Amino acid sequence: MSHRHADHDHVHHGSDLTPIEARVRALESLLTEKGYIDPAALDALVELYETKVGPHLGTRVVARAWGDAAFRARLLADATPAIAELGIGGRGGEHMVVVENTPGTHNLVVCTLCSCYPWPVLGLPPVWYKAPPYRARAVIDPRGVLAEFGVTLPETTRITVWDSTAETRYMVLPMRPAGTEGFSEAALAALVTRDSMIGTGLPEGIPTEPAGRPA
Ligand code: FE
Repeated sequence: MSHRHADHDHVHHGSDLTPIEARVRALESLLTEKGYIDPAALDALVELYETKVGPHLGTRVVARAWGDAAFRARLLADATPAIAELGIGGRGGEHMVVVENTPGTHNLVVCTLCSCYPWPVLGLPPVWYKAPPYRARAVIDPRGVLAEFGVTLPETTRITVWDSTAETRYMVLPMRPAGTEGFSEAALAALVTRDSMIGTGLPEGIPTEPAGRPA
């Protein structure tokens, strides 16, 4: 049966689980029964990504790079060990590549094949990152995709699209907003948004229209 709830629609299959939740539960039961996974270990992993690993880690990397030219150079040359200097790393971040935005180049990250994402610095990917429309259109029409995210870049800014894989995970180093001279690392980190590290957004405080750019 199908019916409307206050905030969502879904079809019931004898429980209050959505179809995807029911599939996940079935898979987990099967894998546990076969001895492939330990539910307690799975719970610990889920809790890790829900509470500890997330984009706040990436914001620390960006803020450090904005304030420390030597770190920035190390980060762009070989991101994985540079990120490890901040105590950040792990599964999905074994081969990180950080690409730097400049007035002439804006970088956009996608995984056209599936949903490869730099987990150690950004946590779990947003739903749209995994969705076929983003994966297809980021490559075909990056400027159109950016416009949908509310990002309008000058025509003179080239957009470079990076296709993440299981081996290589990209993160964008956005441009430091104007007027942030003298900001502490924590204050800088607070300006960094998750989307600005994927390339579908900009840090807080950077106007997207050239006309509104501070002198
Ligand atoms: Fe992928």
